[in-house]
Amino acid sequence: MNDLLAAQTHAVDNRAEIDTSRVCGCFCCMATFEPQEIVAWSGLDAADFDDPQALETSGTALCPRCGSESVIGDASGYTIDGRFLGRMNEAWFQKTIIRPPAAKPVK
Ligand SMILES: [Zn+2]
Repeated sequence: MNDLLAAQTHAVDNRAEIDTSRVCGCFCCMATFEPQEIVAWSGLDAADFDDPQALETSGTALCPRCGSESVIGDASGYTIDGRFLGRMNEAWFQKTIIRPPAAKPVK
């Protein structure tokens, strides 16, 4: 697998990995920060609502700067620096292709 595609999987459902990281980075806004700064998590499973423990251990980190689900921690094995975040940003944000909607069929 392309290493940037592989790295992106660490930005999803990454709570355990974030909690064991020393530094995290966001490849949307390019900020780096400590994992303690992350206060919002998305993707909580409704099935977990009866299990308070699950609410503390699951979810996808939201960037404390921009709110994007684009946070990777160094526990992923990737070096969280400007070069890495820049490559991820190019792959995931700058190369987004915007296509015009298909024309509606004429009745
Ligand atoms: Zn961000």
